[in-house]
Amino acid sequence: MGKLLIVGSVAFDAIETPFGKTGKILGGAAPFIGLAASQFKTKSAIVSVVGDDFPQAYLDLLTDRNIDISGIEVVKGGKTFFWQGKYHNDLNSRDTLVTELNTLGDFTPVVPSDFKNADVVMLGNLHPNTQMSVINQMEERPKLIILDTMNFWMDNTWDELMEVIKKIDVITINDEEARQMTKEYSLVKAAAKIQEMGPKYVVIKKGEHGALLFHKENIFFAPALPLEEVFDPTGAGDTFAGGFSGYLAETGNISFENMKNAIIHGSNLASFCVEKFGTERMLELQKHEVEARLMQFRDLTQFNIELT
Ligand code: AMP
Repeated sequence: MGKLLIVGSVAFDAIETPFGKTGKILGGAAPFIGLAASQFKTKSAIVSVVGDDFPQAYLDLLTDRNIDISGIEVVKGGKTFFWQGKYHNDLNSRDTLVTELNTLGDFTPVVPSDFKNADVVMLGNLHPNTQMSVINQMEERPKLIILDTMNFWMDNTWDELMEVIKKIDVITINDEEARQMTKEYSLVKAAAKIQEMGPKYVVIKKGEHGALLFHKENIFFAPALPLEEVFDPTGAGDTFAGGFSGYLAETGNISFENMKNAIIHGSNLASFCVEKFGTERMLELQKHEVEARLMQFRDLTQFNIELT
């Protein structure tokens, strides 16, 4: 059983979709990553920060799933990061209405001593200096370092982002961000350019159109499962990252072949995440449901062609 260290926001989210609206609910990249990773046999921990307005019941939801939260700092008198978003009718695009960094604004991560030798480190979407600080605290080079980022950091902290991505193995990024990062329209060319920047593996997420994995001249594609109901896409990217990193931490095999399986596990779990608001679906998810849907994925992509 490998150890997985997760760094990312822990938040209050308020979400509006064409189907309804929530008040402040549990959100942030780290809970989505952690809940997805808890489907695998790994020992995982979250490094993050919240204010003392954050309910103990939300922290208990994480510890109930064996996620170590000793690295979540609770700032006395502080307020938890708050994000509010509204989705358009097609659910593919959203507007961020509010981002209140609060305690996340001057967050200094502290890696718990028991996780300084983690096998896999999953750096969620945060300031690149925060991501770098976590890498620097590791006792030895982890087997695999995965980093997620977004256009906000490319716009505002390009130099710091370039420094941290030199030190990682896998980057997960969406298609628009890959194009922005490289000024290439072709995702094949974009992935090749990103590999020159540092990460040997590039995962490009295309939302409801699946995900691509690039490594040297190898390419693998996983579709997203066509779903009847998509309710709230919030956290799908983080859930994908949690499934990807959790599976690799469990198996300890970081070959390209095994990463293909990791992509499928990530896509599979993300397909559940979007079925209800926030973390709701991930919190009730059962193993048999996960396994049944994995078989659907297999059937979706399997065919027999014989060349004559
Ligand atoms: P995703 O839908 O995968 O892009 O992730 C959504 C989650 O990211 C939400 O739960 C938010 O709380 C969190 N989030 C939004 N903006 C930021 C930000 N600037 N830094 C860290 N986390 C964020």
